[in-house]
Amino acid sequence: MAGRIPQSFIDDLLGRVDIVEIIDSRVPLKRAGKEYKACCPFHEERTPSFTVSSSKQFYHCFGCGVHGTAITFLMEYAHLDFREAINELASGAGVEVPTEGDQPRRAQNSTASLRQLMVEANQFFGQQLREHPKSDRVINYLKQRGLSGEVTAEFELGFAPPGWSNLLDQFGKDDARRKLLFEGGLIIKKESGGFYDRFRDRVMFPIHDHRGRVVGFGGRILDQGEPKYLNSPETPLFHKGSELYGLFRAKESIHKEQCCLIVEGYMDVVALAQHGIRNSVATLGTATTRQHLERLFRHVNELIFCFDGDRAGKQAAWRALESALPTLQDGRQVGFLFLPDGEDPDSLVRGEGEAAFRKRLSASTPLPDYLFDQLRKETDLNRLDGRARLVELARPLLLRLPDGVLRTMMFDRLTTLSQSRPGSLEEHFTSSPPSKSKASLHSFGALGQSEGRLSPTAKAIALLIQHPGMGGHQIDLSPLFDSDDPGLPLLHSIQKILTNNPKINTAALLEHFRETPHFRPLVKLVAWEHLIHKDNVLAEFEETIQTLIGRQRTGRIEVLLQKSTNSKLSAQEQGELTKLLETKNYPKGKKNKL
Ligand SMILES: [Zn+2]
Repeated sequence: MAGRIPQSFIDDLLGRVDIVEIIDSRVPLKRAGKEYKACCPFHEERTPSFTVSSSKQFYHCFGCGVHGTAITFLMEYAHLDFREAINELASGAGVEVPTEGDQPRRAQNSTASLRQLMVEANQFFGQQLREHPKSDRVINYLKQRGLSGEVTAEFELGFAPPGWSNLLDQFGKDDARRKLLFEGGLIIKKESGGFYDRFRDRVMFPIHDHRGRVVGFGGRILDQGEPKYLNSPETPLFHKGSELYGLFRAKESIHKEQCCLIVEGYMDVVALAQHGIRNSVATLGTATTRQHLERLFRHVNELIFCFDGDRAGKQAAWRALESALPTLQDGRQVGFLFLPDGEDPDSLVRGEGEAAFRKRLSASTPLPDYLFDQLRKETDLNRLDGRARLVELARPLLLRLPDGVLRTMMFDRLTTLSQSRPGSLEEHFTSSPPSKSKASLHSFGALGQSEGRLSPTAKAIALLIQHPGMGGHQIDLSPLFDSDDPGLPLLHSIQKILTNNPKINTAALLEHFRETPHFRPLVKLVAWEHLIHKDNVLAEFEETIQTLIGRQRTGRIEVLLQKSTNSKLSAQEQGELTKLLETKNYPKGKKNKL
């Protein structure tokens, strides 16, 4: 029997995955201010009321009232059970679900230590670029490439000096540290025992994840040598299949230009930025995956791939086309730009400047044209069997397109090219009608109508769970005594979790309560919209706690006073009453009752 999944693993997992990505790959989301929206997959609707919040890592439908975390979403949408949902999230994040008896606590600590190590290693490489006696070569190299000091600093470029143990000596003082360096992919195990630095004599490019945290490095060789580019291996922090170099920095320009360029190397990204083209990203030594594209399409509807014009470039382009097809919902566009032989974006933009490069971009080949041009090269359209072959080649590709206008139009084009009977091809290949299975599968029932007016306890819980990072766990709750308010023990237990794990996010916090009767009410409190500015949330929380304390005192005073009219209070009760009445929270007017 599989053991219980440790809560700390779930905390860590929910801190690692992004609910926006999880949902977007199944239900395409559109950005709407700070949140993302779509037509709800759980009820029929024409205008989107299904909202996904990246900060809470939570979704909520204002139409039918469904809401929850990434785990809930997978359970409800993909009909998975809890464990299956966890497995799905974990495999997407490239981590293993620990079995019973593992040491989750340590694993969690090690992720935090690994993040810290990445920050320190990045500082180390940066410092070497400024101070190492041999850094002249790198600086000259960067200057030759036309990079200014500002751009070098902006992209936090660094230098891994020559030698086998620079980083190792600096950070690998003991076994635990060396283990961490190894886990982070910064050192390599020797066959004869011991370790050596992975990155030696290279220009270093820190790789940031979409939240701007350093998760790995790329190193480019300075002179001739192999490999030209070297990346961190897959680590608990770094997943090549989903990370894109430069995305964190390019986001703003991508929004502004409404277009994102995908280039092949990090030097291209930096060089383009130097020349004023700041909306580019690079994959990290892997082909472009569907995950990469889904991630980019969340920010923008138009992507342009830049490839070298050589054979390898053309092959890479075709693979990119194949990954792109399933992502092409209506409104999304992909273009291909092939560079002249022997050029890459770096050399080209340096040679011809920003304006000429932009002109090339605007003349990129749309994906549908590229697809049919390539297939026509492989077939002889003058022959009937040649046209049949075109249909055979195009069929599996077009079927990868999602239902929509683009797909129909692509089939129309195939019909024209192959001189087939109008309308016959798409019908012929798509025997089953488009699935409507997403509709109205489940409903939790709508949020309570009085959500705007919560009890102070509920409000305190809602603020604390929605803003776990505000420091609310440091507010003293000890004046709150046990009462028949069912929310108080819950407030205390949330605070306890936060005290042990101050970095936990809303979704992970919520998941602590999945198996308890508190889960449903808590989910509603996470969905509650409080309209308090984020700078004021902590103050509001404190005030709510004060209100609660005040109310408890008032209540207790009423009880004691009531009792004193019927019988004599014990000495202890009398003392308690006196103390309560002295506290300034007690509304003054009521003292007159004495
Ligand atoms: Zn709904």
